[in-house]
Amino acid sequence: MATRTPIVAGNWKMNYGPNQAREFVRGILGDLTTIGGVEKVLCPPAISIPAVQTLVADMPITVGAQNMYFEEQGAFTGEISPLMLQGLCEYVILGHSERRAYFGETDELVNRKTLSAFAHNLRPIVCVGERLEDRDANRTERVLTEQVRGSLANLPAERLAELVVAYEPVWAIGTGRAATPQDAFDAATLIRALLGEMYGAQAAERVRVQYGGSVTASNVADFAALPEIDGSLVGGASLKPEFVEIVRRTAEAKRL
Ligand code: PEP
Repeated sequence: MATRTPIVAGNWKMNYGPNQAREFVRGILGDLTTIGGVEKVLCPPAISIPAVQTLVADMPITVGAQNMYFEEQGAFTGEISPLMLQGLCEYVILGHSERRAYFGETDELVNRKTLSAFAHNLRPIVCVGERLEDRDANRTERVLTEQVRGSLANLPAERLAELVVAYEPVWAIGTGRAATPQDAFDAATLIRALLGEMYGAQAAERVRVQYGGSVTASNVADFAALPEIDGSLVGGASLKPEFVEIVRRTAEAKRL
């Protein structure tokens, strides 16, 4: 079985401009850097990325963007291109459910962005997850299958170690109602099996699959203890010093 380094990413969403970002990162930096064995990624809003990148430049902490467009430049008002992120970010979150729900992002668009991320040496964290009505109608498997097959088509199989897939059930995001570890295990197993069908089992073994949805310091160990879950994508709790505790408990659960 492939050895996968756990990865915990904090999605700040539309919070913390450059000044607040600096203040927050300065406050957690010392503690965060003492925790080994877990990749730590901070994903500020685009405007705060340079401020955060400067602070963590020589630290074992990486920066991610929350979104990007797939084109390199041009008349795309308000968008950020992969070229602009290069050198500032290592990761980019793509297809977050808020982008899908509020900004109409489709699997096809997410796929174009994911391909563009690979082409520009940015590591994509691609989000998939069912809505509550899908789960209630027993459509979870169908929705995840469509999203994985659609968003993650035509990727370079030999580079799947650079891919992170975040399983984020929409009903668990920002609601305080996390999925059960069994739900997360089932989804992660399905996602890896689908990637195995698409790219071969060996390539699929290298993909890291996170759980996201109301992760806190109190529940993260339940997820991190599962070998199939390679860390978490954290929203609300990543805006607080609690994020450090989430990373620490992930390391402990993986016995690093
Ligand atoms: C997210 O934004 O990806 C997320 C999982 O949010 P929260 O942790 O607040 O549920």
